[in-house]
Amino acid sequence: MNSKDSLQKEVRDKLSKFYIKPNFDLGQHFLMDSEIVKILANEVRPNHVVIEIGSGLGQLTEELAKRADSIISIEIDNRFKPILSQIVQRYPNVEIKYADALKVDLHEYESQNLQIVSSLPYQISEAFMHKLAGLDFDCAILLVGKRLSYAIQAENEEDPSFGQMTILSQTFFDSEVIRIVSKKCFYPQPKTDSAIISLTPKVFDKTNKRDFLLRYLFKDLPKSPLIKNAIKEGLIEFHKINELENLSQNDAREVILVMKLSENLLNKSFQQLNNLEIGSLSKSL
Ligand code: SAH
Repeated sequence: MNSKDSLQKEVRDKLSKFYIKPNFDLGQHFLMDSEIVKILANEVRPNHVVIEIGSGLGQLTEELAKRADSIISIEIDNRFKPILSQIVQRYPNVEIKYADALKVDLHEYESQNLQIVSSLPYQISEAFMHKLAGLDFDCAILLVGKRLSYAIQAENEEDPSFGQMTILSQTFFDSEVIRIVSKKCFYPQPKTDSAIISLTPKVFDKTNKRDFLLRYLFKDLPKSPLIKNAIKEGLIEFHKINELENLSQNDAREVILVMKLSENLLNKSFQQLNNLEIGSLSKSL
């Protein structure tokens, strides 16, 4: 039996031994290709702390534990406790947090030695990208759905994959697609292929107006103020922070007029924008 088949058997055996039926609503598609597990784990850099989202059956957790200083693995589903507690016993550098990763405050782990490595549950991948935006860490290695990998690679507004995730990743990260991963590498098989991406936080240049406003738009999510108010406040703040001449509310309105954005768009919140509108907003900023 080759190593691919043996991990495949291990995944199926664990699921049946512990009577676990995969929950699709939680994105439970388990990696059963040892080569992909190794590719992800080998991205761990020396002396790093790793946060993993979605421990699942722990096959990636275990490989991460062999390479990282310490691992904090966050899992929402308590059914994996008996399996994961065995890993914690074998590897004292592993801590499992049973929680919703979207609700965990990651700021307390911020450091230049922090990596995020995860086969990311599909249903939280976009929300998690928002969570990573503005967080201080070394790099994130994420196995994500193919669509998200297309979005982060989209070069301009004409690309059909262009959207909120494109702007978010271009504003906050240098990103790269490391490789495409076939859906056959998971059990149960998801509908689409996946991709391993890496995200490295960009240094924030507060004198770059476009970048500043985009960061400002994302910062206030999910409060979702109207675009016109968010840009107005962002412009005023930009002048303040860069010690430029004070901008009044009226001045800011004038600047927005020059941007020639439609009334309709300005009166929506960022989250209500469709990809076309996000494209025109990105162009005019
Ligand atoms: N890392 C494992 C499991 C991937 S499946 C592997 O590579 O096989 C995705 C995992 O994320 C599941 O275990 C699922 O229960 C977990 N998960 C889903 N939503 C989550 C959330 N909001 N917070 C933490 N874990 C979550």
